[in-house]
Amino acid sequence: MADTETLMPYDEALERFEPVLGLETHVELGTASKMFCGCPTEFGAPPNTQVCPVCLALPGSLPVANADAIESTIRIGLALNCSIAEWCRFARKNYFYPDMPKNYQISQYDEPLCTDGYLDVVVDGKTVRIEIERVHLEEDTGKSTHVGGATGRIHGADYSIVDYNRAGIPLVEIVTKPIAGTDRLAPEVARAYVTELRELMRALGVSDVRMEEGSLRCDVNVSLMPRGASEWGTRTETKNVNSLRSVERAVRGEIERQAAILADGGRIVQETRHFHEDTGRTTSGRSKEEAQDYRYFPEPDLLPIAPDREWVASLKAALPELPSVRRSRLQADWGVSDLDMESMHNADAIDLVEATVAAGAPAADARKWWMGELARRANEAGKPLAELPITPAEVARVTELVASGALNDKLARQVLEGVLAGEGSPDDVVAKRGLQVVNDEGELLAIIDKVLAENADAADKVRSGKVAAAGALVGGVMKASRGKADAARARELILEKLGVS
Ligand SMILES: [Zn+2]
Repeated sequence: MADTETLMPYDEALERFEPVLGLETHVELGTASKMFCGCPTEFGAPPNTQVCPVCLALPGSLPVANADAIESTIRIGLALNCSIAEWCRFARKNYFYPDMPKNYQISQYDEPLCTDGYLDVVVDGKTVRIEIERVHLEEDTGKSTHVGGATGRIHGADYSIVDYNRAGIPLVEIVTKPIAGTDRLAPEVARAYVTELRELMRALGVSDVRMEEGSLRCDVNVSLMPRGASEWGTRTETKNVNSLRSVERAVRGEIERQAAILADGGRIVQETRHFHEDTGRTTSGRSKEEAQDYRYFPEPDLLPIAPDREWVASLKAALPELPSVRRSRLQADWGVSDLDMESMHNADAIDLVEATVAAGAPAADARKWWMGELARRANEAGKPLAELPITPAEVARVTELVASGALNDKLARQVLEGVLAGEGSPDDVVAKRGLQVVNDEGELLAIIDKVLAENADAADKVRSGKVAAAGALVGGVMKASRGKADAARARELILEKLGVS
């Protein structure tokens, strides 16, 4: 249905409209047990083996809040510069859905644990402050699987089955305030925010933040307003976008779709939408409920939370080095520009470069190989850099071989290729492929004589003063030595022989 919708080209859409974003991110906490019962939380167990009367909401069962989850939520709030509530409550959010056995979700409503924070992200060399409205704690739902249809959605399925292992796992929801003023960078800002949030969660050790397993999921709100307007447009909410690239594509796609509708005199329906990985498009979900549709009320089975101030202060004092602080420190250590640092960050290369430096490589060399040859190969393979079958220690060894003069850059690329192809360590590849710079001057001179004899025209030109023609001769030497000659030394020797040095 919606696939037939027209889109406005992105540049045109941005000329006419200004996007406003909102991001709601759900993070599954990595606690050992669920939010309100003692069931384990491990991913991938057989369906419905990690359930009990509490998370199935059998009559007479009573929830007890998980202290570790509350602590993790407060640490997240502190890392996001939020105020921590002195007193707050859980609330019941009432709605029916088969993956929710209670027919309500224990969440937080008007009394969240953390409020009014921010997270800074860097896009295109500029720092953008994303304001955080709230961070609250709730429980996850179970998981429905629709069987028999083509799309995995309920539409067209023969039947559906439900797994409650996930029901009741502690879930933190992080909600931004509306993000305006990002203009054409809106998709990149959204991606940078989720990237930064993911790194923050990792640094805090509160979640494994695996987007592909759903432990970090993002709902992307987008609205447009005509340039110069003062009132925000109607927003749509694209649900459960589960990769960083998809976050960026979902924002871009919604901007293009909404712009076409608005330009045609239509109006945007407030609704949830589904993102399709294959097409990068969104399709209509359900019309969006308002808060009052959920009939929130304070959860009567749980005590209020009143975090002790001294405890909160001690949690704050014990926060680890945050990712942005770590990046600033590494940037100073490595002596690289803001943009170089940003591109390493975007390529997820910072940990790899850091580990390569720790293994003994100079920072400039570590960066050069990861962001050059290896990034190119990762790109070709359609893989993240970290998934290339090469270790930072192996890259460090290659830089060492280059520094010692045993390899030149061209040979080093062949060594990397060999390591990636599973031929062993850099030293194994050098030995097996016979990749060593020709250091034997006699051998090099013999190659040069042969090349000069075969290229008499070029040699004459050099003799008559056209030194630029020596390039072709050096090229001939490199070719004849299969890349193993030292090009600079070959050039010196060629000029010497032709009497122009
Ligand atoms: Zn349970």
